[in-house]
Amino acid sequence: MSNVRVRFCPSPTGDPHVGMVRTALFNWAYAKHTGGTYVFRIEDTDIARDSEDSYLMLLDSLRWLGLNWDEGPEVGGPHGPYRQSERFDIYQDVAARLLTAGHAYHCFCSPEELEDRRELAKKQNRTPGYDGKCRELSSVAQAEFKAAGREPVLRFKMPGTDFTWNDLVRGELTFAAEHVPDYVLVRGNGDPLYTLVNPVDDALMQITHVLRGEDLLSSTPRQIALYAALKDIGIGSGITPEFGHLPYVMGEGNKKLSKRDPESSLSMYRNQGFLPEGLLNYLALLGWSMGDDQEFFTIDQMAKAFEISRVNPNPARFDLKKCTAINADWIRSLSSAELIKRLLPFLQTAAVLPEQPSAEQLSLLAAAIELVQERIETLSQGVEMLRFLYVAESAFAVDPVDKAALLDESGMQILLAAQAALAAVGNWERTEIEAALRAKLITELGHKPKSAFGPVRVAVTGRRVSPPLFESLELLGKDRSMQRISTVLAS
Ligand code: GLU
Repeated sequence: MSNVRVRFCPSPTGDPHVGMVRTALFNWAYAKHTGGTYVFRIEDTDIARDSEDSYLMLLDSLRWLGLNWDEGPEVGGPHGPYRQSERFDIYQDVAARLLTAGHAYHCFCSPEELEDRRELAKKQNRTPGYDGKCRELSSVAQAEFKAAGREPVLRFKMPGTDFTWNDLVRGELTFAAEHVPDYVLVRGNGDPLYTLVNPVDDALMQITHVLRGEDLLSSTPRQIALYAALKDIGIGSGITPEFGHLPYVMGEGNKKLSKRDPESSLSMYRNQGFLPEGLLNYLALLGWSMGDDQEFFTIDQMAKAFEISRVNPNPARFDLKKCTAINADWIRSLSSAELIKRLLPFLQTAAVLPEQPSAEQLSLLAAAIELVQERIETLSQGVEMLRFLYVAESAFAVDPVDKAALLDESGMQILLAAQAALAAVGNWERTEIEAALRAKLITELGHKPKSAFGPVRVAVTGRRVSPPLFESLELLGKDRSMQRISTVLAS
């Protein structure tokens, strides 16, 4: 193992989103690439926003994706616990030590006072931000505030120097001191904030590389300053991690993809039956490339090739079509047996198949799978394509939109002719079925294939989109096919 230690440290608020998964993936890939350690930490110090459900969903999502962690919840590790809600005593202790060492101070300014001073600074063309008012408060003044019932926040004392670091993705970056004022570490009620707990844990967990979204860029100078203070008071190993800020992910209309956009929700992909391999393959391309235009790869291949220097700092565009196309490639790459294994739970959830499918049902699935495999982009599309094979005749229904479009008067005439042709087929297998339908509908009646076969397809499969027609008829069997055609003709 190398000494590289990276972390993925989401807050459990709501449904995990794809931006978060991209961050998890890039950290995972870097750990694998370097033979390092992938730490999974839960940043759940915000009691009002975090939830247990969301925590469990995060674990389940990472497991589903196959982004397994070396240290973290459930697996443990030498720097646990890995849920920040179980580490409050650590933060309290660190906060007290920062205060004693003079790296932080109690600040009694009320939100209204801060706001007034911010406004004034803006009017006077000064950079707004905390002005250091409470930095040197005498103990008498502090006691007076306390007597007046004010609860102080703990504020970090920035060193007043500019900050420069060599970002692994964005190159050299500098923040001027005036843009990074003293900031709050602990609320008046004693709650420690992200600003404290995240760097404290990075220090204690000996994190060497921080790869995270660009939205956190402005935290970095503050955190670098805090690392120095932590080192001074003997917290952690004293290393300041290297930082790499991953590019924004843009959605429709070139706006940042937000949690509210439906295509950002991981559950949406899971429910629609994206394969984890397909989704991760696409997410890997958001800001990174394998080189030589290779766009289809496993995450192990990605990890092998993953150099942070190849991460592109420019915003990446999230393209649902491309994501879907890559997923379709992944579906086509599976063996029949594997695709069946992945499809089964979807068929069961949709009640197309029972919990314990019969041997007959499974052999029908095995016979149909190749036809479906070529035509679906997601597993849920597979369910819709296969439904016609399993639905009981009493429950069989034709999609009303497709019915209106294809089974109009002329469609019904075609279906009537098809019925006669099919009734005469002796050996019910695809080539004979095809020959009979072609002879009747195309050669004899002069229809074009498209208008000839559409009505038959809708009548027997219930939909315009199905596996190929002749194969579908064969799989369904003669009796059921003829019965469906008669029912439609009689309707
Ligand atoms: N809990 C933070 C978040 O989810 C982590 C940020 C970081 O990687 O430092 O945004």
